[in-house]
Amino acid sequence: MTSHKKILIDLFIEHHDRFLSIADLSALIPLGVQIDQTTIYRAVQNLEKNGLVESASTDKGHTGYVLRHSDHHHHHLICTGCGQIVSIPCHPDLWQDVANQYNFQETHHKVEIYGLCEACQKIDKHSSP
Ligand SMILES: [Zn+2]
Ligand SMILES: [Zn+2]
Repeated sequence: MTSHKKILIDLFIEHHDRFLSIADLSALIPLGVQIDQTTIYRAVQNLEKNGLVESASTDKGHTGYVLRHSDHHHHHLICTGCGQIVSIPCHPDLWQDVANQYNFQETHHKVEIYGLCEACQKIDKHSSP
C-alpha cells in the first residue's frame, strides 16, 4: 500500500459518516503532504475498484465517495441543491413486498432519493416570490 492510499483511507475512516468529493479530500490532506487532485482521483478510483469505497453522484455532477460498509446496507438522500449526500438505513421489507406482488425474486437493489436538504429548502423559499 502506498502512503498516499494510506492517507486517503485514513480520511475515509475519519469521515465515514459523509460523502467526500475529490475537492473535499484534497482540502483534508494533511499539511506538508503533496498530492494533487489527479493523483487523489486515480487513487480513489482504485479504492472503488477494489470495493473499499463506494460513490454516488448528483444531478449537478458532484460525485462523493464514502467508505463501503459491507455489513451495513443502506441508501442515499442526495441534495440536488448543494450536493450533500446522506446515508439512510434500508427497509428491506418494503422492497420484498413489492417484489412478491410481481412474483419477482429480488437479488439486490439500489435506491437513491433526490431532493433538497433542509438548508436548500430554506434558500428556495427565500428566493421565490
Ligand atoms: Zn442542499
Ligand atoms: Zn436497501
